[in-house]
Amino acid sequence: MFRITDECVYCNDGKCIGSACPNIEVKRMYCDECKEEIKSEEEVYDAGCDMCPECFKNYIENEWSNLTLEEKADLMGYKHETVGD
Ligand SMILES: [Zn+2]
Ligand SMILES: [Zn+2]
Repeated sequence: MFRITDECVYCNDGKCIGSACPNIEVKRMYCDECKEEIKSEEEVYDAGCDMCPECFKNYIENEWSNLTLEEKADLMGYKHETVGD
């Protein structure tokens, strides 16, 4: 999730200049799963909620292990059909 944080520590001699301050509304992205900040150079994954690469990997591995062989083959683009007829 995006969170706007006030990160002004000390501008204008301790009296923040307010809306013109570049640090008062810093947009930061947090992982909804582990609550860690997702750095701007990292990817954000949308799986119903925002996830960091690490949580998304766990999520995908978990989802993937629940798929049937046919579903996996479909997702990877392999052809499969029954031999009959
Ligand atoms: Zn300020
Ligand atoms: Zn995470």
